[in-house]
Amino acid sequence: MVKNTGSSLLISVFFNYYNNMEFLPVSHESILKGAQILKNGGLVAFPTETVYGLGADAFNPLALAKVFEAKGRPHFDPLIIHIAAIETLEKAVNLNLLSKETRKKLFTLAENLWPGPLSIVLPKNEKIPGIATAGLQTAAVRFPDHETAQKLISLCGTAVAAPSANPFGSLSPTRAEHVLSGLGEKADLILDGGSTRIGLESTVLDITGECIRILRPGGTPKDAIEKLIGALQDSENKEQRANINEQGLTSPGLLKSHYAPNAALYALNREEIIKEPHETEREAAGKTAFMFFDGCTKDEWIAVHSAQKPPETIIVKVLSETGQPLEAASCFFETLHELDNSNVSRIYAQFAPGQGLGEAINDRLRRASCN
Ligand code: AMP
Ligand code: MG
Repeated sequence: MVKNTGSSLLISVFFNYYNNMEFLPVSHESILKGAQILKNGGLVAFPTETVYGLGADAFNPLALAKVFEAKGRPHFDPLIIHIAAIETLEKAVNLNLLSKETRKKLFTLAENLWPGPLSIVLPKNEKIPGIATAGLQTAAVRFPDHETAQKLISLCGTAVAAPSANPFGSLSPTRAEHVLSGLGEKADLILDGGSTRIGLESTVLDITGECIRILRPGGTPKDAIEKLIGALQDSENKEQRANINEQGLTSPGLLKSHYAPNAALYALNREEIIKEPHETEREAAGKTAFMFFDGCTKDEWIAVHSAQKPPETIIVKVLSETGQPLEAASCFFETLHELDNSNVSRIYAQFAPGQGLGEAINDRLRRASCN
């Protein structure tokens, strides 16, 4: 039941419409409630100094899949991981993968610009699920300069992954009412903390590559960063911009710009995957993997191929036995990584049904496929 504690007319309009969501002004009790919801795998929209975020437990893959579902994005974007103390940074990232010099720069930035509107891209801690980072081995981490955000994160005792709390394609929300009209009951709780102070997203700074650079300009000016760690590579040239646009982001050096498996991946619809592997393929060298979207398709595939005795070298994975897009999305990146680590040379992957999260899965399959 929505509790109407705000005075705005807009809230009253929505009051009777949504019934699984709460809209509460910021208070110790409402933040505690938010922390509990996050711990239980729910979604909480909360104010930060930049824009409102739609938060989920950064270690809970199902909760993270709900974030993508709520935003209705047709593709996966990496989320920003929010922390509330520098001491907890290593829960989210693995600093051992940084050179001594880069670690020094990181701490200079953190000491001077955190809390604040600066997200720093770092090698991720392996406990952060792939869906939080869209399969990347890096995570963008931020320490927001906002009391409510900090309290919420500390009370739930975990890191909170959050994109801006707006539906795909609409403006970032700077007031709780914007979140209500955009996402409505897709959040379990909206914490109303009034207008956000900065109203612009955080600056995203990648320090994992050979050159440190800004991937997205935002609330922390380039000058403030350069004063602390020296000149940054100019990310304004056309070639780089094209790269950022096409792939969503860049992370030179250490990591791939977006995750694509080393194996040749063939994205196939249900009918096509049931027929694989073809006679000629079966003789080919190397291990083959199948990544089915649902258990029914796998069963049908087994029925078709049992007479043909598929070779031992086939690995079979199912994203969701019951064909639930949320479950499938939550383990999608981990499954691909796992198959890649088992040295398969081919992956046959089944497209998801093409709506909602299925669309985001399919977008990723298309980008990774060679067919
Ligand atoms: P939002 O949370 O809506 O402000 O958007 C987060 C943005 O941060 C993404 O769209 C990326 O541009 C950037 N970002 C987050 N994580 C990473 C990462 N691991 N590598 C590069 N960019 C990232
Ligand atoms: Mg956004």
